[in-house]
Formats: sequence, C-alpha cells, structure tokens
Amino acid sequence: MSLKFQTVTGMKDLFETELAYFAKIEKLCQNMADFYGFQKIQTPILEQTELFEKGTGLTTDIVEKEMYSLRTKGGDGLTLRPEWTPAIARAYLQHGLSAWPKPVKLWYLGPCFRHERPQAGRLRQFHQFGFEFLGVQDPMIDALTIQIFYNILKGLGFRNLVVDLNSIGCGACRPYFKKTLNNYLKSRQSSLCADCRVRLKKNPLRVLDCKEEKCEPVKKGAPQMIDHLCKDCHDHFKPLLEYLDELNLSYNLNPYLVRGLDYYTKTVFEIREDTPEGAAQGALAGGGRYDGLVKMLGGKDTPACGAAAGVERIINLLKGDKTFSPKNPEDNEGTAEVFLAQVGDLAKRKALKLLEELRVAKVKVGEGLHKDSLGNQMRLADKMQAKYVLILGQKEALDDEIIIREMKSGSQKNVPLSKVVQEIKKRL
Ligand code: AMP
Repeated sequence: MSLKFQTVTGMKDLFETELAYFAKIEKLCQNMADFYGFQKIQTPILEQTELFEKGTGLTTDIVEKEMYSLRTKGGDGLTLRPEWTPAIARAYLQHGLSAWPKPVKLWYLGPCFRHERPQAGRLRQFHQFGFEFLGVQDPMIDALTIQIFYNILKGLGFRNLVVDLNSIGCGACRPYFKKTLNNYLKSRQSSLCADCRVRLKKNPLRVLDCKEEKCEPVKKGAPQMIDHLCKDCHDHFKPLLEYLDELNLSYNLNPYLVRGLDYYTKTVFEIREDTPEGAAQGALAGGGRYDGLVKMLGGKDTPACGAAAGVERIINLLKGDKTFSPKNPEDNEGTAEVFLAQVGDLAKRKALKLLEELRVAKVKVGEGLHKDSLGNQMRLADKMQAKYVLILGQKEALDDEIIIREMKSGSQKNVPLSKVVQEIKKRL
C-alpha cells in the first residue's frame, strides 16, 4: 500500500530500540565532557545562511549543493544547520566566550541536515556529537581532540579503529602548495574524472579527496602537502605525532585527507572502523584545527580545534545496519511487581485512578487497561513476572473492593479499594 504521507527521503523516524543507542552515546559523551570540563551547548537548528557560506565556505559541497535553505516571509535567508562548527564559533563571539579561561571547551549533540544522495551512511537528517576547543594553539589540544573521539568510539565497542591524519597547512604555506598541485594536476587533466576537472578550477586540494578509480594514478604521483609545510605548521605537526605516540594512539598518515571544508588549518583527521562494513559507512568522526574561523566570522584571531562524529553511522555499525522498527510492546513489557487487571467499564474507571495512586506510591506496576479479557491480562501479568495481581471485577468495583492474588501460591484475598495501596506496600 502506498501511503500519502511518509518521512521525507533520507530522514528517519527513531524508535526506542534505536534511541537506546542515542542515550548510550550521549552518556559516554557526557562522561567524557565531565572529565575534561566541557560545557554542553545547544544552538538553534536554523542559522543565517551567510554563517555557513562564510564559515563552511562557498566552494564546499555542503554550501554548493547540500544546504536546506529557506527565505522567511520577512526576507531573511536561513539554513538548517548542516554542521555545528560555524554555529559554535558564532556563539563564541556572540556571548563573549573569549573572556572565559582558555581553552573554551564546548560539546554538543543534535541534528544536522544535508541534501546528499541517500546511501549507506548518508542521511539527509542525521545527528552529530562534537567536542570543540577554542583559544589554544598547542598541538596537545589536537592530540586530546583525537583521543577523546578515539576513546568514545572504543568505549562503544569498536575494535578496529584507524585514525587518518594529515596537515593541510595554513594561509602561509597552502597557497604555494595549491599552485604546485595545480601545475601538476593541470598537466594531467585528461586523466581526471569530470568532477575533478571542475574541482581543479575551484579548489585543487579537493582532487586529492576524490574516490573515483580514474583519479587514483594521478593522485599517487601528486605532490604532498606534508612536504610543503611552512616552519610554523611543521613545528605544530611534529609534536602532535609525538603526543599521539606517547598516548599509544596509532595513526595513519594520509596525504589524501583534506576534509573539504575551507576553515581547516594544519591538522585534519578522521576516524574510521577498518572493516568491510566500516568502509561502506565511511568515516565515523572527522575534524581538525580551524585557526581562522572565528576571525573569518568577525572576531579576533582565535586558534581552535574540534571534531564531530555521526551518531547514525556509529549505530549502523554497532547494530550491523539492521533496520530498526518499533518494538512490540507485548514482547517487551519489562517486569513489574504488581499487575493491575480489570473487567468492565466501572472497574476500568476505578483502575485508572488506582494506577495513579500506585504510581505516586512508587509501586512498579504493570497494567492491561487496553485489554478486556481477564485471561489475556493474567497472561500478561505472568509474562511480566508480577508477584501480585490486583483484580478489579464488576462486583468488586460496585463494592469498592479489590482482589489481591498472590501469583505463586494462587491465594486470594479481598481488601477495600481504599486500603489496597497500603496493603501492597506492606507485602512488597
Ligand atoms: P563531516 O564534518 O562531514 O566529516 O561529518 C562528520 C561526521 O558526521 C562524519 O564522519 C559522519 O559520521 C557524520 N556524517 C556526515 N554527513 C553525514 C550524512 N549525510 N549522514 C550521516 N552521517 C553523516
């Protein structure tokens, strides 16, 4: 049957079974945040379009093709957050966080929106969690960022994590490298895929990122940024590697990792699970240093470093990419100390009130208010391993009484309705 209304392509309903993973991930993030002293931040989902055009960058895939942008009746151009970092930098400026002790540490978890072609690991609404350090240049911060994400993923049970690492230089050395790369690529233009021929004009670094087989041989022979770093970038990268060695955190120097966003400077990294399933999903987390972003948005020079991870990708791998569906409440009622059964309209009304009294008295109670047959309710009580069943039949409802049945022995006793909570509390 084709339904008139369904979720929009690339967007999903999330049910309890999947949300349990969200809760687990959030808890791990919160523990990590408490340990390192990160404050949680929640920014609005809608921001000015210009924030991302400026921050994420006009020539990036996100801004060129993937943003959900709208114009309000008042004429404002707004965009659904495609990533958090520009919003974090905006909040840092707007609330004067530069006055806080350095580094300013913020973390977040929430939805992002990108109009990408839906496929394994790519949704149009997905969730990211992220950790951002602002205000400190030290490469130790880069190492800590990597470690935080590595540890969260390890804590979730990933065992084959690989950290891909690169430095993409800064405003001083990257323009020269871009020129060198450009010359090299131009002379091999005919061996590049159609997309890369366009990239070559806009941002030759992005060619290094291309996944097309056709471009592989050209990429292999390409000059590497790491050999063209200025002294400042070199002096930042070397100690970062030493910190990671010290932390016993193994990494893979990947000269093709550029991360495609304009604001990155120096360190970029991604973490992926090195299994066939992991490869199908793509990177679990990615980030790096963005020393120029705050200034680009109108603030002072502010070094910064951070990363984000995709919650759904993580869950897909943890669950083997199973499609989630609502759990059947009948299959998963959990357990209860007491079960409340009722037969007839008057009993149902009184049961509703009693249920509330039991909740207030903190009795773990199960119910079958949606069921009419006593037999079905008793089966449910059995499933929930209730010690006692309270049975409110038509006669009991009229007499303001209730039956307490002990499930194990089968013994029953009538008590006044007004005394039942007290009686049950005594027995439990
Ligand atoms: P990015 O900044 O694009 O590298 O995103 C960081 C992380 O967010 C990625 O490593 C993914 O885990 C996740 N992510 C990015 N785009 C999507 C998407 N379209 N669908 C699901 N997860 C995504």
